[in-house]
Amino acid sequence: MKISISIFFILLCFQLRAEVLSGKTIVIDPGHIGTSEWALVSKKYILTDEDQMITEGELTLELALVLSPLLKELGAEVFLTRSKLLPVADIKPEDGLSGDLKARYDYSISKKPQLFLSLHFDTIYKKDRAHYPNDSITQSAKVFITKDENALSFENSKELGQSITNEISSKLEIGIDERPGWWWDSDLHEDGVYGRELYLTKNFPDTTHALVEGFYYNQAQEVKNLVDPIKRSLRLKLLATAITNSVVQFFSD
Ligand SMILES: [Zn+2]
Repeated sequence: MKISISIFFILLCFQLRAEVLSGKTIVIDPGHIGTSEWALVSKKYILTDEDQMITEGELTLELALVLSPLLKELGAEVFLTRSKLLPVADIKPEDGLSGDLKARYDYSISKKPQLFLSLHFDTIYKKDRAHYPNDSITQSAKVFITKDENALSFENSKELGQSITNEISSKLEIGIDERPGWWWDSDLHEDGVYGRELYLTKNFPDTTHALVEGFYYNQAQEVKNLVDPIKRSLRLKLLATAITNSVVQFFSD
């Protein structure tokens, strides 16, 4: 009897966890495109000291492909703006990237999501050392949301953003980026959440959103993690778990 009651509670807990995101539509946008060809257009890449290229567009896609099944397992309907190392719009490198941003927006809004997550990583370059590892960065996470405090999505996006930076900080054991005035056009709120007029923040006045800058991918120690396939996969799994926990927390409140 005892055993069957235990099994019943295990199944009940599993069922409750499985349903926690049911009925929620989430769009994940893996930022940039990846591949050396596109990374040279966007300048979103770093070179290791051995001249190995690490592109932001590949990191964001790898993260999205780990995050998406975690959210689906909890019942969410999940859409990705891209699932390959290709632009979302039908563009060529010489066309520039603005068409691709618009295509990401158009696709995302067409899904009428409760949540829009754009995934990114950041860099800080040392003078004359553009695109190379920087050993003076304190590793930290931050989130950008709309700058418009009157937007319907502002408060929810701020709450979600704070939860994301706190979860990332705790799971990856890194800091929260809270340098006021670092970006000329940004307002710092609490817990590393900045209001900023980016295409994929300002155009979601009614939809809860977060543009997540997971960590600095040219921080010298992080570069060592990212060139090691096992450590790279572990870092991205921790990040995906942190974001999943925040999303669950957000919808549970
Ligand atoms: Zn980015």
